Amino acid sequence: MTTSSLTRIDRLMFIGGNSVEASDGERFERQSPAHDVVVSSYPHGGPPDVDAAVRAARAAFDDGPWRRQSGAQRARALARVAALIRRDAELLATVEVLESGKPIAQSRGEVESTADLWDYAATLARHAYGDAHNGLGEDMLGLVIREPVGVVGMITPWNFPLLIVSQKLPFALAVGCAAVIKPSELTSGTTVLLAQLAQEAGIPDGVVNVVTGGGSLGAQLCGHPGIDMVSFTGSTQVGRQVAAQAGEQLKKVELELGGKNPQIVFADADLDAALDAIVFGVFFNQGECCNSGSRVLVHASIHDELQRAIVERATTVTVGDPLAESTKVGAIVSEEQLATIARYVAEGTAAGASLLLGGERLDAPIGRFYAPTVFSAVRPEMSIASEEIFGPVLSLLSFRDTDEAVQLANGTMYGLSAGVWTRDIDTALRVARDVRAGTVWVNTWMDGYPELPFGGMGASGLGRELGRQAIDAFTDTKTVQLHIGPRTNWWTMSGAQS
Ligand code: NDP
Repeated sequence: MTTSSLTRIDRLMFIGGNSVEASDGERFERQSPAHDVVVSSYPHGGPPDVDAAVRAARAAFDDGPWRRQSGAQRARALARVAALIRRDAELLATVEVLESGKPIAQSRGEVESTADLWDYAATLARHAYGDAHNGLGEDMLGLVIREPVGVVGMITPWNFPLLIVSQKLPFALAVGCAAVIKPSELTSGTTVLLAQLAQEAGIPDGVVNVVTGGGSLGAQLCGHPGIDMVSFTGSTQVGRQVAAQAGEQLKKVELELGGKNPQIVFADADLDAALDAIVFGVFFNQGECCNSGSRVLVHASIHDELQRAIVERATTVTVGDPLAESTKVGAIVSEEQLATIARYVAEGTAAGASLLLGGERLDAPIGRFYAPTVFSAVRPEMSIASEEIFGPVLSLLSFRDTDEAVQLANGTMYGLSAGVWTRDIDTALRVARDVRAGTVWVNTWMDGYPELPFGGMGASGLGRELGRQAIDAFTDTKTVQLHIGPRTNWWTMSGAQS
């Protein structure tokens, strides 16, 4: 499998139902971060390609059949996409591994979760209803109807390419929107394949379009006047630029950004379960995860015991070839990301944190791998405690009581997710209420369900994906007022003429 998978594949963009080159013929290549060989190449789109994709989406939305179909018809098409994802699961999982560096076993799980997202969105296609107001008086019936927001520009990152586009696309399609997607230039493969599957499932041409490339392509897409809404997942830094651009043009915007997520461990917790979740939480996907549990806050009375156990467990985590079935931690996505991780580790050491494990690039003949890294004696003001690293680096802090735990948890600009480990229901509820985070896990970590909305507070984002809230995200409401019976005439009303 390893050798045959490492063949270079030249792919195309997907515009108006056609697989096309960039208008100027430019292409770029992607190397497998674990194997140092070119595994794919793509057209490098520019303004004419963005324009062509937006025009195709506009025509499909404004004049095409998609938004006029019944919810039931759209639901059937989305369910067919889910089935096709399952049919092509091994291909999708492998492309994801080769471009992102994530382990194959994990990637297979993500493909199945992706199919489940499409299945769930299919159920929502039949539920995009509004409200009726029958209590406005004898002569009035008020309707609040939902309409698709229009053409949605979707911009996605490299860490979960297929899963993240599927937290947006099927939900937008469910309510009748059209889309132009710009995946990260590092991981465009599965997004292009997904667009082809949407076509095979019978979704009309032009409803799903993909432009590939980096540089200013994302900004070009956000700024295009034919886009009605921008749905962005990526860094907080770029999210701010996207929000500013959308604000300038008064476009609807939804942002899923970074996190510095705390797991809070109280002395009465099931420590075996917490230990497993801590190691999983920070090393899953090489730590390149918005939900990474990169801060662990431990009650002072169990700090030393848990710290020893974490280091012992982290030492056994298998890092290596992501195509190997037993690998738990694969390759870091790029040299740039590796340099970012190394910079944070150097800052942590210089600031006086204790490096207990790792802290270095692994010495491998090919690819880029980073050792699972654990810091203790971390103080909240250190950058390793307050900034998103996006690598396999854990920062341990300790607290003395619940107030201090909550204060530490809320001590960063982020608010994506948090976890609390305790057997005391009062403590669990108190923390769940007081921690500023879009998701709080109690005695578990990083479970996700399409039924449950996901998103961040503070610098972690704006708006929510998934759940029935996804309908709100991709629709506008329209108020329709229906008058019943004869209407009082303004002109003949007493005093109306004065
Ligand atoms: P980036 O913000 O660097 O890039 C995200 C996407 O935006 C890429 O497709 C990128 O294109 C594009 N882009 C870059 N500049 C602009 C711009 N000015 N206008 C519009 N689009 C632009 O994030 P990464 O790809 O590095 O992904 C990692 C980040 O994503 C982390 O911070 C992580 O926390 C966050 N994330 C958040 C999640 C959430 O749900 N909250 C989930 C997963 C990740 P290109 O790179 O091709 O140039």
